[in-house]
Amino acid sequence: MARQVGKAVREWMARHFFSLLMAAAGVAALIAAGTNSWVAVAVMTLAVLPSLAARAPVPAPAPAADETPAAIDPLREVKAAFAGFDSPVYVLDLKANVLYQNPSAQHIFGPVDPGQHISVKVRMPVVADMIRDALASGRNGQVEFAATVPSESVYLVRMVRAEPIDGAGAFYVLIFRDISEARRIDRMRSDFVANASHELRTPLASLRGFIETLLGPAKNDVKAQERFLNIMLEQVTRMSRLVDDLMSLSRLELKARLAPGDEVDLVPLLGSVADALAPLAGDLGVEIRLHLPEEPVLVMGDRDELTQVFENLIENACKYGQEGKAVDIKLEPAAKGQAAHVTVADYGPGIAEEHVPRLTERFYRANVESSRSKKGTGLGLAIVKHILTRHRARLVIKSELGKGSAFTVRF
Ligand code: ADP
Repeated sequence: MARQVGKAVREWMARHFFSLLMAAAGVAALIAAGTNSWVAVAVMTLAVLPSLAARAPVPAPAPAADETPAAIDPLREVKAAFAGFDSPVYVLDLKANVLYQNPSAQHIFGPVDPGQHISVKVRMPVVADMIRDALASGRNGQVEFAATVPSESVYLVRMVRAEPIDGAGAFYVLIFRDISEARRIDRMRSDFVANASHELRTPLASLRGFIETLLGPAKNDVKAQERFLNIMLEQVTRMSRLVDDLMSLSRLELKARLAPGDEVDLVPLLGSVADALAPLAGDLGVEIRLHLPEEPVLVMGDRDELTQVFENLIENACKYGQEGKAVDIKLEPAAKGQAAHVTVADYGPGIAEEHVPRLTERFYRANVESSRSKKGTGLGLAIVKHILTRHRARLVIKSELGKGSAFTVRF
């Protein structure tokens, strides 16, 4: 039965070859518009246009004596159009039997025999329902579903009806677009907004509390007023630090793809960062020790951004590694296949292994209380990572509990 249907469709397609081409181009345009992907448009255009251009002006020649219409695969133009498509695609007849499956569909969902019903491969209830509704109504359908096999992915599945121009012999195209990456970015963005609001809400709530107390119970208590105003100043300073860091991140995101074009000598740069942080290190009882070569070490970079990188790393080493009492900054020039690199090492409590890979995530802290008490925003290392990405440089973190941490920047 399936074979008979297949044969009938193939014969009809051979007769309506040009109409089919137009329909394939129509479907391609529809899907490309839906997927919003220039790659899709390019693939479709490349696949379909040459055959249209080659055939449109010349009437199709009569088949040679030994060449029957049945020998020509009527789906070959459609197959060519979808073969290079990196999303899984099925071409279905009006009963949802598979006429064609592209290599991506084969790879992801496994092979299916031509003529088999699509339900053999597509068992997800939401997708099966959408296919049934589309077939019953004759309209296009679309549904989103989360697959766990073969891997965790979110797909947008579209079923598009292709209507050849003489109105007979329609078929369907079922296309799976992997939107996992887009969903992941959406989730990251909303997590980021939630975290940023939470970080701002805490000092705001405390400010509100103090203002109410100053207006009410502490109205005439001069001593309490002074104490509360000092705490309020601290909270306001914390909020402006957070806003500054957020602004830094957003500026860096805007120019993420532009590699910096200036030549920067790391020797004086590290010297001046160490000088600027000497008062903080002094307050914390930490000695900053510089190990710099005599000769200049030049890298392509942005001086202000690199200053920010080393300020963040050295300040963290002084704050979190305070009990080690010393911070070593070692600059090694490029040599024997090794790129120039700078290591900032402290001898504090170190960082547990499970935290290390996540330290450069926004708002991630190994210890929230310790970060807050040390005036941290949780954004310092995220900023470092952004700047280094723009500089085509890498941050390598090595840490051992009880022994300290070493943050190395490799250019
Ligand atoms: P913060 O503003 O909290 O310091 P960062 O992004 O600079 O944020 O650092 C993230 C977290 O990494 C810190 O909260 C801290 O837990 C940990 N951390 C960073 N540097 C060190 C270090 N030298 N020693 C121990 N922990 C560190």
